Amino acid sequence: MSAPDAWVIRDVVYRTFAAEGRAPSVAELARKTGLTPALAQQLLRTLADEHALVLAPDGDSVRMAHPFSAWPMAFVVTPCDGRDDRRWWGGCAWDSFGISAALDLDVRIDTACPACGTPLSLPAGPATPPPAELSVWFPKPADQWWDDVVGTCTMIRMFCDRGHVEDWSTAEKVTGGQTIDATTVWRLSRPWYGDRLRPDFAPHTRDHNQELLQECGLTGDFWRLP
Ligand SMILES: [Zn+2]
Ligand SMILES: [Zn+2]
Repeated sequence: MSAPDAWVIRDVVYRTFAAEGRAPSVAELARKTGLTPALAQQLLRTLADEHALVLAPDGDSVRMAHPFSAWPMAFVVTPCDGRDDRRWWGGCAWDSFGISAALDLDVRIDTACPACGTPLSLPAGPATPPPAELSVWFPKPADQWWDDVVGTCTMIRMFCDRGHVEDWSTAEKVTGGQTIDATTVWRLSRPWYGDRLRPDFAPHTRDHNQELLQECGLTGDFWRLP
């Protein structure tokens, strides 16, 4: 990542998401870092250009800092410990497991199957894989994920099982995606997102991420990163 100040901004964004389930404003970033609001804004754009986070369409606020989302999306992530009143929006199935990985926390993930509307409420944690029958659908190949990253996340949904993915994709006339077991997504999320909140975090290289996909059996053109 380029400027050291960009790291400082990124750090405040991630710590605020972790502690409060929300993104800090530009004014708040400026106050907490001692930078001017104009510079804080500029560094947010730098971070967005490097895919370290995603800005809202108007460019003046943080929309996502994977695995966290500032706006409501299809997944709610809640600590299993009832005394911990934090809550997070999971952008997708992958991000929801990623929040558990980044925080090293046992959580409950709530969503609904897009095919039948059944509420799905599942435990997940460092040592707790999701139920084996659950399936996750990926809408498009890895080399297109960042063409519209919020749109991609929005579509990476969890279904009751593979049959419900088939029912849904037939009914919606959707083609070109791939379905994988939720347990595989959970396993992938741990090395992919587990280091995001560490003080020594360094962005993964493309090759490193490709290896992480491969280690989970996600190979072939569909899973080839750009
Ligand atoms: Zn279903
Ligand atoms: Zn996502």
